[in-house]
Amino acid sequence: MGTEKFLGLPSSAPRLTWLTALGALCVFWFLIIQPNFDYRYTALGVTMASLHITHARRLLRREGMQMAGRFLAFSLLSLAAVWLLRIAGALAGQLTPDVFSNSRLNTLLYALHSICFLLCLIGFVLLASARIREEFERLASHDSLTGALMRGAWMARAQIEIERSKRHARQLALVVMDLDHFKQINDTLGHAAGDQALVDYVACVTRHLRRQDSLGRIGGEEFVLLLPETTALEAHVVAERIRSAIAERQVEPHYTVSMGVAELGAADQTVSSLLARADAAMYQAKTKGRNRVELAAVLLPTLQPA
Ligand code: GH3
Ligand code: MG
Ligand code: MG
Repeated sequence: MGTEKFLGLPSSAPRLTWLTALGALCVFWFLIIQPNFDYRYTALGVTMASLHITHARRLLRREGMQMAGRFLAFSLLSLAAVWLLRIAGALAGQLTPDVFSNSRLNTLLYALHSICFLLCLIGFVLLASARIREEFERLASHDSLTGALMRGAWMARAQIEIERSKRHARQLALVVMDLDHFKQINDTLGHAAGDQALVDYVACVTRHLRRQDSLGRIGGEEFVLLLPETTALEAHVVAERIRSAIAERQVEPHYTVSMGVAELGAADQTVSSLLARADAAMYQAKTKGRNRVELAAVLLPTLQPA
């Protein structure tokens, strides 16, 4: 149940409680009502193995589970296997009620159980530390207010995408977005309302994006959107969709956004040159009255003197 909570999965507590209660009832039955060590041990083993297998399946079925999760699942399955060996030993009459009996099988099972249990503990620690590392990485690269990528992380990602697009001769577009008259929102409704608008804006833009697109916050109320495998015209359609969605909403505080779109040209070698052209287009949108999307001129490669 802890693992389900950790992974944000729906709880299967009722099913697990029933399973455990049934196991406990069987153990009680073969202890008090009809004492039988082999059956009692088998009931306990079946319950424990089922719990461990359910636990492991929860981890393995989780999409994108990292190495630590798979390690924990493997450890849980090993522990379940030890329980199955115990059941086989009990049913074959090879185990005795004396837990400290000096038989080879007993020693082997205890040793295996201890090792597998220790592996499970290591698995839990690995899983928790992987989560902490992820959290730190996210904090270092994402803006804490809006959740968008921070300037440095976005620039690094954009540079990689630009190089990839050039290598494979694919299109790539960039949209610079600046919220209109944002200072007025702060001045009239307060800083908290301004913050709320920023959070709301990123949530709204994110709904329009594909997995491969990246949204960065490069200034106070300035954002930049990287759209791999997208032409300027396609990016213009996306930008226009976002702009109109924002402008038509009836939420408070109401605001609008101006955008500039630029497509990666043959002469663009770095993010900065592409960003500068999209930025210039965005300023054009501001001058033309705001709440609009402008397309940057295509940059042609400079001719080399013969
Ligand atoms: P324009 O339409 O020309 O873009 O006008 P503007 O008012 O949006 O532009 P300006 O650059 O003058 O003002 C931007 C404002 O954004 C100023 C600043 O106080 C505000 N701002 C920057 N970062 C934050 C933030 O994190 N939270 C809030 N609430 N306001 C912010
Ligand atoms: Mg602004
Ligand atoms: Mg600005």
